[in-house]
Amino acid sequence: PASFGKPKAKRWDHWISQESSSRTGSSIKKSAKYLKKPGLITLGGGLPSCDYFPFERIDVKVPVAPHFSEPETLESGIVRTAGKHDIRNGKSLYDLEVCLNYGQATGSAQLIRFVTEHTEIVHKPPYADWWCILTAGNVSALEMCLRMLCTRGDYLLTEEYAFATTLEAAAPLGLRTLGIRMDKEGMLADDLDHVLTGWDELERGRPKPLVLYTVPTGQNPTGATQSYERRQAIYAIAEKHDLCIVEDEPYYFLQMEDYAPGRIHSTAETERVPHDEYLNTLIPSYLSMDTSGRVIRLDSFSKIIAPGARAGWITGAEQLIERFARHAEVSTQTPSGISQIILYKLLEETWGHDGFLEWLMYIRSEYTRRRDTIVAACESHLPREIASWNPPMAGMFHWINIKWHKHPKFNKDPSTTNLKEVEESIFQAAIGKGVLCSLGSWFRAQKDTDTEIFLRVTFAAAPLDRIEEAISRLGEALREEFQNGE
Ligand code: PMP
Ligand code: PLP
Repeated sequence: PASFGKPKAKRWDHWISQESSSRTGSSIKKSAKYLKKPGLITLGGGLPSCDYFPFERIDVKVPVAPHFSEPETLESGIVRTAGKHDIRNGKSLYDLEVCLNYGQATGSAQLIRFVTEHTEIVHKPPYADWWCILTAGNVSALEMCLRMLCTRGDYLLTEEYAFATTLEAAAPLGLRTLGIRMDKEGMLADDLDHVLTGWDELERGRPKPLVLYTVPTGQNPTGATQSYERRQAIYAIAEKHDLCIVEDEPYYFLQMEDYAPGRIHSTAETERVPHDEYLNTLIPSYLSMDTSGRVIRLDSFSKIIAPGARAGWITGAEQLIERFARHAEVSTQTPSGISQIILYKLLEETWGHDGFLEWLMYIRSEYTRRRDTIVAACESHLPREIASWNPPMAGMFHWINIKWHKHPKFNKDPSTTNLKEVEESIFQAAIGKGVLCSLGSWFRAQKDTDTEIFLRVTFAAAPLDRIEEAISRLGEALREEFQNGE
């Protein structure tokens, strides 16, 4: 009903790779539609009888909205139970008999309904025939998308520094990554347009790229967040050059207020705002502005519930999601049924959409406190003449530029200096002081083109009260490294 009157997505036949278009689909799964026939006895698909699943019930203990900031104890929260025959017994719409067996490769209808409603609430895609199905997380979903849209030898457009796993997924598929220049708001629309407008197939040896991979919010590794205006400009360029935008958004809900020096956000003092107001504070997604149906959005439960759930969802034009599902049939199928039932108990039967939004507000508030803590620690402990940064506005990463040419041991000329050596020296100095950072070069879309050095530090992993100590160790390491480089 929400899509009533909206136009349909464009057709994307010219985007779909040979690999993807030759997927014929699972004959066994297609035959499942006959199971609905009353009285039918199945000797068809090899579904084991649920009598042999060695689980009578699964209990999960979960926190209840909105009391998330109270310490979790054995007494707090609520226990939800999934039994084997809850559907038959009228106790639930989902149970162990269903979740532990084979099903369609789209994921369980019960959870798909939840993520589809959630997507409508948050993004309201402006065309009619969009679909959501479950995935085994964003990394797997992205790799499947690349196979659907790209051919060995193609270029994949990314930010100039990109999530290392994406680069590591693209390389063995034979894809070359082309990094688009960035500023503190992430990918530069002008550079994207410039690269594509000037594309010379003969010179490049490959056709114009088709796929733009981007992490618009709290980008990994730079922490950059694209403003609404930036997203509109990039979407317009995607329209101009017929690009498919794959937005990988694990940090979408970790959007924060601006960093205010001298202020550390406290979860206890967070004012709970009405849900509409909260949703209005989120920068609109590419999906929400996608009148053509050219965006594939990847959402993940990893950073908002738990990475080990291995669950997420993909949203896009029906034509593309259908191809994706044909791939899932021969690879991931669905997230684990155990994972699905636990998520269902939490999201549908405990929180509902309102409780889920409360949870998202709660964790964004927690991450805000962590962001404030790490940026304040940098202000207190890092040498400003060597290290510089922009406070991140989303996600879990803080990106620190290191003025490497001030290093006494190295030549000042980037063309004759091996930056890897400088990086390694800084990395080891930090380890020597007892702090582990990630190096910018690990994320470089085009290897060996660096002229700058960055460190990526996360405020997600360490205990909150150890973050300042870690940054103080990094500060000591930088001071020693840059003073006693001889
Ligand atoms: N391989 C064979 C030979 C099978 O018969 C089956 C199940 N019918 C599978 C693989 C599928 O295994 P899984 O559920 O672990 O993907
Ligand atoms: N995409 C980006 C940009 C990430 O930073 C991460 C996490 O490190 C992932 C995907 C991983 O997502 P998932 O756990 O859903 O595979």
